[in-house]
Amino acid sequence: AKTLRLVLGDQLSRNLSSLKDAEPGRDVIVMAELSDEATYVRHHVKKIAFVLSAMRHFAADLAGDGFEVDYRRLDEDDVSITSFTDALEAAVARHTPERIIVTEAAEWRVLSMQEAWKDRFDIPVEIRPDDRFIATHAEFARWAEDRKSLRMEFFYRRMRTRTGYLMDDGEPAGGQWNYDAENRAPPKEGLSFPDRPDWSVDETTRAVLDLVASRFDDHFGDLEPFAYPVTRRQATHYLNWFVDHALADFGTFQDAMVQGEALMFHSHLSALINIGLLDPRECCDRAEAAWREGRVPLNAAEGFIRQIIGWREFIRGVYWLHMPAYADENALDARRDLPDWFWTGETHMNCLRQAITETRQNAYAHHIQRLMVIGNFALLAGLDPKQVQEWFLIVYHDAYEWVEMPNVVGMALYADGGLFASKPYASSGAYINRMSDYCGNCRYAVTKKNGPKACPFNYLYWNFLIDNRERLSGNQRMGMMFGTLDRMGDEKRRAVREDSERFLAAIGDA
Ligand code: FAD
Ligand code: SF4
Repeated sequence: AKTLRLVLGDQLSRNLSSLKDAEPGRDVIVMAELSDEATYVRHHVKKIAFVLSAMRHFAADLAGDGFEVDYRRLDEDDVSITSFTDALEAAVARHTPERIIVTEAAEWRVLSMQEAWKDRFDIPVEIRPDDRFIATHAEFARWAEDRKSLRMEFFYRRMRTRTGYLMDDGEPAGGQWNYDAENRAPPKEGLSFPDRPDWSVDETTRAVLDLVASRFDDHFGDLEPFAYPVTRRQATHYLNWFVDHALADFGTFQDAMVQGEALMFHSHLSALINIGLLDPRECCDRAEAAWREGRVPLNAAEGFIRQIIGWREFIRGVYWLHMPAYADENALDARRDLPDWFWTGETHMNCLRQAITETRQNAYAHHIQRLMVIGNFALLAGLDPKQVQEWFLIVYHDAYEWVEMPNVVGMALYADGGLFASKPYASSGAYINRMSDYCGNCRYAVTKKNGPKACPFNYLYWNFLIDNRERLSGNQRMGMMFGTLDRMGDEKRRAVREDSERFLAAIGDA
């Protein structure tokens, strides 16, 4: 039967469940660049360009294999098509198919649209599970059932056993499940980082860059230089490059930050995996093979595989288990507006200036910049979780709601009251100073605890504990910190309060 198969912008995989049984000559594959999707939040221009270019290349590959691809470009005249539903309706009218097949959307908002198609069209609409993810929704829900709190580590062990990654005779390779303790080295003096592969911009990408420049010139971010993979071939090349040149040091320096080094030893693969150009399993296969061949140490391969089969799958599980209420969580009652410098990077706090400037340039920041610099600041300053979510969704090229939201709400802001984080990731300037070389270039002094010259993270940290004393008092892992707080003299407490009030009142000029 003639089938319409709608492929979404983050489903660019030939093994997609909705494409597995597709037949050239019989089926029509529908893809659409939509203004709703490009603007429902004002995405970073590099992110829009990446998605559109990857979509166009993917469609061209399909057409090259003989498929009829009904592809709608954003620059086409028909302004009445703004949503997936519009695009599908138009395609059904054009092709009169006998059925529609889609792969479930990764986001709640879009899956709700897909569910509504079942009533809207008078032909069958089949929604297939997205088997690019390793754990199914049901599997995660079963695992989470009856657990008071969700701990990634236990889920991860289950995923290791289930997938067999880094397992020897049913036991974790090397005798331990997790080598995170070896993955926290601060940056060494003179550490050097490998050069990344580069791609020249082809005609397709050039057309997209021109379109994005003219259409979204008021969105955040630098569009060029643009040097990210946009095809399956480039993406696999980038994965191989990572395994050969960066993975060996990825583990050890996973938490380190170096001024002017946006990528360090990080894989920079998240956007390629999330959009479908790479399969998470193939990334893990390569990393495990490199370890088995003696090319990378175990802490590197384990650290990388844990992020993918552990954190990535776990985060998705949390999202689907708790949506839609999860979007509105605000357990710490944080209400402050985002200061403008979140968009400009113009703050005197060097760590934030670096992280935000790199984000503006690259639509990327690595995990510790996101969590321990930007997220930590947002937590300590009590920034409104909704605004913080929207910021993270806009600025990163790998940001889709299913992965951005739990990372922001649960991990960075503790706004879900500790659903999966055992305590808030709050820390003073000492952590940033230990893990980076940022503080030496900062107007503020990381060694000073109080006064206008002191590192703001230092007093905001104690201010955060004072403000949340009641809310967090039941948390055993906070006991030591609250013990220290309770022993703090009145004068010191007063100084913390005064510094914090002064800082927060003028947060826009920080
Ligand atoms: P690497 O450090 O090389 O890690 C390898 C891979 O593991 C990544 O490519 C990614 O696929 C996966 N991974 C690692 N950590 C996580 C995690 N916590 N959640 C999900 N996957 C993970 N990741 C996104 O893909 N999209 C987001 O919108 C996003 N928002 C975040 C917001 C905050 C506040 C925080 C703290 C983290 C966020 N992350 C997000 C997770 C993580 O920071 C990025 O996946 C990572 O920095 C991407 O860079 P990389 O590919 O170089 O990762
Ligand atoms: Fe950031 Fe404080 Fe260090 Fe400045 S001194 S870079 S604000 S941690």
